[in-house]
Amino acid sequence: MSSEKYFSNDLLNSMSPAQIKEYQEERLRSQLKYCYSSSSFYKRKFDEFGAHPNDIRTIDGLRALPIFMNKEQERLNASESLEKENHPFGAHLCAPLNEVYVTGTTSGTTGTPTFSYTFTKNDIELIAQGLGHRFSYNGVKKGDRVLFIFALGIYATTMSLWGIRSIGALPIDIDARAGSEMMLNFADLTRPNYMATTVSLAEYLIGKAHDIIGKEVGDLKMKGLFLTGEVGVNIPEVKKRIEEAYGCPVYDYWAPAGHAIAITCKSDEYSGMHGVSPDLCLSFEDLVDPETKKSIPIEDGAVGEMVVTSLKREAAPLIRYATGDMVQIFTKPCPYCGFPGKRIKLVGRSDDMLVVKGVNIYPSAIKKVVESFTPQVTGEMRIVLDEPPPRVVPPLKLKFEYGARTREPELEGLAKEISQATHDQLKIRPSIEWVAPGSLEKSTRKTPVFEKRYEK
Ligand SMILES: [Zn+2]
Repeated sequence: MSSEKYFSNDLLNSMSPAQIKEYQEERLRSQLKYCYSSSSFYKRKFDEFGAHPNDIRTIDGLRALPIFMNKEQERLNASESLEKENHPFGAHLCAPLNEVYVTGTTSGTTGTPTFSYTFTKNDIELIAQGLGHRFSYNGVKKGDRVLFIFALGIYATTMSLWGIRSIGALPIDIDARAGSEMMLNFADLTRPNYMATTVSLAEYLIGKAHDIIGKEVGDLKMKGLFLTGEVGVNIPEVKKRIEEAYGCPVYDYWAPAGHAIAITCKSDEYSGMHGVSPDLCLSFEDLVDPETKKSIPIEDGAVGEMVVTSLKREAAPLIRYATGDMVQIFTKPCPYCGFPGKRIKLVGRSDDMLVVKGVNIYPSAIKKVVESFTPQVTGEMRIVLDEPPPRVVPPLKLKFEYGARTREPELEGLAKEISQATHDQLKIRPSIEWVAPGSLEKSTRKTPVFEKRYEK
């Protein structure tokens, strides 16, 4: 990585942090005025809070405003626009309807899908620069072929195709629903140098390759894997397992609703996703407590719920949108590549958070502990809930698959070791139930973390 191309917008590469902040604030002021004058929803919100865009000059000023939106409000906005204007993009749509150029939805696994990826032509061109930069940051260039396996069509993940094409690389896009045979046959046939997919699919293909194409995934000779969609790459054992199988570095990337565009670098130790497009949103500058929604100071290592405010977005800009994503922010330059901007690590979803004896616990933290015990365990797990979260009456019940070579008499001792490690790292002592390897269902999309034993 050459030092002059950290950010996707080249203007920022010669700016100091103070100048970048000034640049963001200038864009913020015009974004807020645009939203106020273009959407009845935003006008209503500002009025309701007794605020006016003219009064908000800085990021601190923005953070003093209440939360404008969350997923639930976004769904209400969609119902409102469907009813009044016959479109699903929401009452916060600011551009004229006939300027909508691209749309895409969230996966809809947790309710009615929202069209959070609705863009004008200008929007997608700007965003594509950032999305593409995440790939070029790690060496993808014009002429490279990127095997791209996700649920294709109207889904969010396909936005990265715009990024891959924007840097002149060629996507080989295959629908994840097509099955492993088609994925691997196309991989063999098209000889891609890179692959973009989910963590679980990358792991799944490792075990399938030999039977289908007569070679191992490592024989495909990829130069890098770009993974997204789940917490995983930030667990050292998972990263190592995939890197060893494919024989190449694995990167973690993100861009929820085209915001917080971020990518990890080639560091061995997980150093967080680097925010390469701070000119497009303020996601790295705004954290709140997930329960009280009070602002959390942006300091190195701070953990909180990420709040998004768009900068220079035309179609459906967001203002103080509480994402439900719990993140940790790093403010110092990356120790590996020197990236000078902010970095982010996904901790979990605020609605996945459990409270055990006053301690906040995320499934990803438990996953990290159990993964450190592979191959004595498979790494597959469930958190058993007898009552609706977040409060859990101790002990927290965990269900693990023991490893294929672990013998039954070893299980009691192993449970004690894992319980102790959980206590050392997370300050809770769980109870552990063992199940045979392969008995917990593994999904190629999102594997469930909870086993709910209560009436919903
Ligand atoms: Zn780095």
